[in-house]
Amino acid sequence: MKFELLQLEEDRIRYLLSGVTAAFANGIRRACMSEVPVLAIDEISIYDNTSVLFDEQVGLRLGEVPLQADDLSVFAQPEECQCGGSGCPGCRVDFMLSAEGPGMVYSSDIQFTDPSVRPAFDKIPIVVLGEGEKLVIEGYATKHVGKEHSKWQAGTLCGYKNQPSLEISESCDGCGKCVEACPRNIFTVEGGRAKTTNTLECSLCKLCVDACEPGAISLSLIPSSFVVSIESAGNMPVKELVAKAAEEIKRRAEDLDAKLAELA
Ligand code: SF4
Ligand code: SF4
Ligand SMILES: [Zn+2]
Repeated sequence: MKFELLQLEEDRIRYLLSGVTAAFANGIRRACMSEVPVLAIDEISIYDNTSVLFDEQVGLRLGEVPLQADDLSVFAQPEECQCGGSGCPGCRVDFMLSAEGPGMVYSSDIQFTDPSVRPAFDKIPIVVLGEGEKLVIEGYATKHVGKEHSKWQAGTLCGYKNQPSLEISESCDGCGKCVEACPRNIFTVEGGRAKTTNTLECSLCKLCVDACEPGAISLSLIPSSFVVSIESAGNMPVKELVAKAAEEIKRRAEDLDAKLAELA
């Protein structure tokens, strides 16, 4: 297996993974989306809501606010907590939201009792309150995984594509139509022939193939090589997200190994 980092920012990563199957590349993608536990607002009690939104809509918006914790490992998932899931400081973080219009209620108005927990972004709009309108809510966040509900999804835009391979045959006459057709600026014409640059950016749209009258362009997919893009919802840096997803896959593989060994 070969790994080549193409781009790394706080919340997004792009890398080239070669010498693996599509199932392996997809496994990492899926684990980022559904197997890495994070905190999200789970239950709320609405004491006052005179805003234009129904209670359910306010609840939905609060649930989708990504939360960060200084140390996520101090929280247990409720079903694994020593309280047996009934709720305790080990598996719940309480919050309060109290606002009065006029003005926008933002994610920064969600105040957690534990100062180590906070919304990942301050300016996520929840609802606009008009003059005299109020929103008073209490509730708690719990730790779960994305396969339970999208509000616990730590990876948002997670995808992969096969690495594209573009070849230009001798029949190229240098007409330049592929240069005009390609939305990703992959082609240039030099010395009367088309050339490709940065083919990893190719979106596989085939516009160049359609534009090339002599049929000089052949576009194919390299079957064991993948460009993987992962974006974090903001709960944690994307580097940590991918590492945790890989750890989860490893843990499951070891579990399976141990179970098979018991059967042998
Ligand atoms: S469109 Fe085809 S023939 Fe024209 S420059 Fe591109 S590859 Fe060559
Ligand atoms: S398939 Fe689309 S993106 Fe890729 S090189 Fe051709 S025109 Fe450009
Ligand atoms: Zn508990």
